[in-house]
Amino acid sequence: MTRLITCKCCKSQISQKTLTCFQCGQPWPNQDDADIIVAFKSGNRLVAVQKLKELYKCTLQEAKVGIDQLASSGYFLS
Ligand SMILES: [Zn+2]
Repeated sequence: MTRLITCKCCKSQISQKTLTCFQCGQPWPNQDDADIIVAFKSGNRLVAVQKLKELYKCTLQEAKVGIDQLASSGYFLS
């Protein structure tokens, strides 16, 4: 069963596993991503992947893809 969460940006009900809100495109909607951003920015990509994996209860491979997608979209640059 997929848990639903409320996007912190547009308040849509979305899957907990989604990496970006399908309504507004907000990355990691309604998740505390501060730790992941800090880890990635300090060069600890693997730590960022692990934290994403824990947050989303996804596989390590899914978390790696998610981090790569967010990195290539410039999410960590802001
Ligand atoms: Zn949203």
